[in-house]
Amino acid sequence: MPKYIFVAGGVMSGIGKGVTTASIGKILQSKGFGVTAIKIDPYINVDAGTMNPVEHGEVFVTDDGTECDQDIGNYERFLNEDLSTDNYMTTGRVYDAVIRRERNLEYGGKCVEVVPHIPNEVIDRIQKAAKKTKADFVLIEIGGTVGEYQNLLFLEAARMLKLQHPKDVLFVLVSYLPVPKMIGEMKTKPTQYAVRTLNSSGIQPDIIVARSEVPIDQPRKRKISIFCNIQEKDVISAPDIESIYEIPINFEKDKIGTLILQKFGIGAKKENLKDWANLVKTIKTARKKVKIGIVGKYFETGDFTLSDSYISVIEAVKHAAFFHKLKPELTWLSSEVYEKNPGKLKELKNFDGIIVPGGFGSRGVEGKIKTIEYCRKNKIPYFGLCFGLQLAVVEFARNVCGMKDANTTEIVKHSKYPVIDVMPEQKALIAEKRYGATMRLGTYPCQVKKGTIAYSSYSKAKWGKENKKGDILIQERHRHRYELNNEFKSNLEEKGLIMSGINPERDLVEIIEIKNHPFFVGTQFHPELKSRPLNPHPLFREFIRACIR
Ligand code: GLN
Repeated sequence: MPKYIFVAGGVMSGIGKGVTTASIGKILQSKGFGVTAIKIDPYINVDAGTMNPVEHGEVFVTDDGTECDQDIGNYERFLNEDLSTDNYMTTGRVYDAVIRRERNLEYGGKCVEVVPHIPNEVIDRIQKAAKKTKADFVLIEIGGTVGEYQNLLFLEAARMLKLQHPKDVLFVLVSYLPVPKMIGEMKTKPTQYAVRTLNSSGIQPDIIVARSEVPIDQPRKRKISIFCNIQEKDVISAPDIESIYEIPINFEKDKIGTLILQKFGIGAKKENLKDWANLVKTIKTARKKVKIGIVGKYFETGDFTLSDSYISVIEAVKHAAFFHKLKPELTWLSSEVYEKNPGKLKELKNFDGIIVPGGFGSRGVEGKIKTIEYCRKNKIPYFGLCFGLQLAVVEFARNVCGMKDANTTEIVKHSKYPVIDVMPEQKALIAEKRYGATMRLGTYPCQVKKGTIAYSSYSKAKWGKENKKGDILIQERHRHRYELNNEFKSNLEEKGLIMSGINPERDLVEIIEIKNHPFFVGTQFHPELKSRPLNPHPLFREFIRACIR
């Protein structure tokens, strides 16, 4: 019988529930158990694929092509496991399934009701994921904050599962404790209210993770203990720290792993967080900097700048930097600024390398193309991800092959040189407005040609399998509707664009690069989605190597 640990949030969002869940998973894994994690998002969207990144943050993609919440990325990075559609749930998904089943007369003529049918569907899905992954521990993160209308049915599911299996379910509340400047003291009252609200859903937390600027002290642990009906030892200190990868190490200072095992009445099979501890040591001791600029457009919301839209890119850069024992320094650069004021491009020289990540639509595109031209001509290491490959091809066609006004048909429908074009099967989908989960999604194979930068990167890191010809076959994750137009392939190749990775089934260009440049590589897939802290992605590794050179 697997054990279930629900993680809910108190007081406010954005306090790191996802990395807390992932860290608890990592700790249990290090004690010799199989762990999986599920993210529940309370919104109606069936998946994250149709949401604007500024609204929602990055859309993460799993091997099986599920467009999901960025927390799935956190789980994969911490647990070093590939997750699937079973690890992700939204209100929309759950209702969609129940309604479909009702239409198929699968409820035997019964009145189908919000309770219990919706929570039952949630429980079924959790149990299905448990069975499929054969995990000893299933962590379930309930999105949003306690007290919200939206996640009530998921809390109800958690309560019902506990009722069915009283010994196998545990509740963790990750709650925020503010230290208001004018008071100068950590306040517990908002957390007391959060627990009371949770209690009104029939749930008593077993563990409270006290998120705050600083570690929680004994008097405040005592206060939480008295007012929230919980033992002092069950309050875990979770202060702000420099790196999220330090969280498992920090949690273990309060022995959260042992605490959880004791509550379930089981003993640890082993203790091994050594690799992780070494990683954290590197992160904390690295001094030499590598400066990377990310040129995108999903940064600004009102007066605030967010980097959530590119979280996997950022983490992948960090993993590779840590591999080289460097301190990564990332800067957000707005492509729209370069569009309006090309004089500003000069600032790109202040960086060791530039990344143009994935993107959609026309805003800021010309600024990105100018960025790429500047990197190519000034020999600044350049790494283009998905849209970053497509626009590098556009730039090369325009400025090297003399195809004036070359473009992608995503931006200009009828250009003279449509060097990037919509994939044939995508045309019908767009015409019918069938946008949900219809891009080219998930893992596809790519054959990497011997003698290229891409080849040496993958071979050095021992990723992929070599075939008889000496090429390497890799598997990478995708999310796009447009592709390099093969009609222009030979023209581009003649002028020096190297197609170093090809999808063997459909002859699609997956990787491009150029010679006589320290590093100029673009990928149609998203390598950032497969980078892990202890196993950085080969192309990011070599990109950073070129940056420091
Ligand atoms: N907009 C481009 C496409 O749909 C690139 C997508 C991306 O960068 N993820 O093909």
